[in-house]
Amino acid sequence: MSQQIPETMKAAVVPQSGAAIEIKDVRIKRPEELAPGECLLKMICTGVCHTDLHAALGDWPVPAKTPLIGGHEGVGIVVAIGANTANSPVKMGDRVGVKWLADSCLNCEQCRNGREQNCYSAQLSGFTVDGTFSEYVVSFVNHVTPIPEGFDSYAAASILCAGVTVYRAIKYSQTSTGDWIVLPGAGGGLGHMAIQYAKVRGLRPIAIDTGAEKRKLCMDLGAEAFIDFMESKDIVADVKAITGGRGAHSAVVTTASPSGYTQAVDYLRAGGTLMAVGLPGKAGLEASIFFTVFKSISILGSYVGNRQDAYEAIDIAARGLVECKYVCQELSTLTSVYKGMAEGKVAGRIVLKF
Ligand SMILES: [Zn+2]
Ligand SMILES: [Zn+2]
Repeated sequence: MSQQIPETMKAAVVPQSGAAIEIKDVRIKRPEELAPGECLLKMICTGVCHTDLHAALGDWPVPAKTPLIGGHEGVGIVVAIGANTANSPVKMGDRVGVKWLADSCLNCEQCRNGREQNCYSAQLSGFTVDGTFSEYVVSFVNHVTPIPEGFDSYAAASILCAGVTVYRAIKYSQTSTGDWIVLPGAGGGLGHMAIQYAKVRGLRPIAIDTGAEKRKLCMDLGAEAFIDFMESKDIVADVKAITGGRGAHSAVVTTASPSGYTQAVDYLRAGGTLMAVGLPGKAGLEASIFFTVFKSISILGSYVGNRQDAYEAIDIAARGLVECKYVCQELSTLTSVYKGMAEGKVAGRIVLKF
């Protein structure tokens, strides 16, 4: 197949942190240059995540590589595999997904414990290695996620980051069937998928967001209650009223604002679990120590997902149980997409096509 691979590709390149994106021609790594374990994908589409904006701006405590091709929720076809790759779980022609965790060693303490995303030598798509905002992507056979036959690539794209992230947070939220789970930002990219994954696990979602449009979206997707944070006089009291006075069993907080986290400690019932998922660069978590202890609250950080989480999140979506609401655009619109995200104007998810 190598003769069909062109010399160059269109890519969205961030030349240095904070600089404007340049859409330009970039050399494609030749199949014979791939290291063992690497594969080359011809991309079909890629989602755009808020993290990509952080990577481009360089406003996180950990720096991204530069120049950088961002993107970490893409779907493509395997068109080359590095020579001497042993036991590849994927083969030429397979349709696979690229997620935030591009590669991990699989042998360190974190990997052995299933926290591959915390691997001491983890590679991150669109951050430490070039990501999916290009027509071809070099990825890693052990970590690409097979996309089941018949599952639309565009529908799959955002499951690979937004979907996996909320799926894992809900999976580890220490909840049981019938428990209440609060989802601040439920009408957004992560939130609207969180409602659906929560329903799959038999949970009772309480959506927090604002506006008639998001209220309808959340209720249509299966939320049992909606709290409009612009209209509510007391979100904590509202959550308690909905849950019979006791509070919710868990909250999956994906927002960047610290108040979302502080509030959760107040509206969780005793024994409840706060899953912290958002990645604001600088904000601190100011929970009441007294009530965290007095109410036996667990505060857990949940960071994207490992290979198994990706398989499960994709499988559930492929079976039609979770659907990502997205709008399809061209790669060349990325700059305006970032602008919309920075202004909080993007509803659902944007998926770029090649
Ligand atoms: Zn992401
Ligand atoms: Zn490792």
